[in-house]
Amino acid sequence: MTGNQRAVGRVKEVTSLSNPLVKEIKALALKKFRDQQNAFMAEGLKLVIDALDLGWQIRTLVFAKAGRGNTAVEKVAARTVAAGGTVLEVSEKVLCAITRRDNPQMVVGVFSQQYLPLKDVRPGEGDVWVALDRVRDPGNLGTVIRTVDAVGARGVILVGDTTDPFSVETVRATMGSIFAVPVAKASAEAFLVWRRNFPGLVVGTHLKGAVDYRTVDFAGRPVLLLMGNEQQGLPDELAASCDRLLRIPQAGRADSLNLAVATGVMLYEIRRKALKLEDRT
Ligand code: SAM
Repeated sequence: MTGNQRAVGRVKEVTSLSNPLVKEIKALALKKFRDQQNAFMAEGLKLVIDALDLGWQIRTLVFAKAGRGNTAVEKVAARTVAAGGTVLEVSEKVLCAITRRDNPQMVVGVFSQQYLPLKDVRPGEGDVWVALDRVRDPGNLGTVIRTVDAVGARGVILVGDTTDPFSVETVRATMGSIFAVPVAKASAEAFLVWRRNFPGLVVGTHLKGAVDYRTVDFAGRPVLLLMGNEQQGLPDELAASCDRLLRIPQAGRADSLNLAVATGVMLYEIRRKALKLEDRT
């Protein structure tokens, strides 16, 4: 008997929405229960495989009946069992309820949440970190995490009261990068203390920034890019902690760029000047 077959033998079949495990997973839609369980949900076979490859701890693998006999699904089931997790084979109705979607992915994984402690963010030469002040929108946060991954920056620091990086909406928007990009979080006070020892250039972006972002030399030292809240921009205390406040010139009538777009523009400029990376596309 192969490992995959042994795992299939340990799969629990679930068709009832009142099954306690199903209820627990459904509850992960709410932050309160994600925090209580210290868990979150990610949808899609590729994402689950990537997460396992990157060493994330899987607690439960849920797959649709249609996945029975699919070699890739059975392999993931075997890896889940080997990691001490639970495997559920569920009806379409249950999968729709868990994901709150009419056309759900065939596979859902429940993982333990994982933050990088801020004290362990110790940038070396050429490292780029992004700090987001009170980011509110899950789509923005997910898009920033995905962009940080794409440019080869090192990670994201969430400052103050932010949207949850492990919400279903944020995880969806990261397209899997949530598993590749370390995320730290800190109060504004703790961040400012940590920032004092930042060994490189700290740049904030600000609509009133005095410096055109294209004129800055980002090469040869760690860079911390600080982005402001969607409604209010950077508060004075965070703006004052920056070595430079940069502006992205705009034509037209828009009063600002979307936060994730502005972060993308900045990261590609920093990448062009400082992150000497192979292009894998
Ligand atoms: N009303 C807000 C304000 O007054 O700052 C707009 C915030 S904007 C939607 C969100 C963040 O994106 C800003 O705090 C800043 O970090 C960045 N941003 C957007 N457009 C920018 C620009 N043209 N130059 C520099 N930063 C910009």
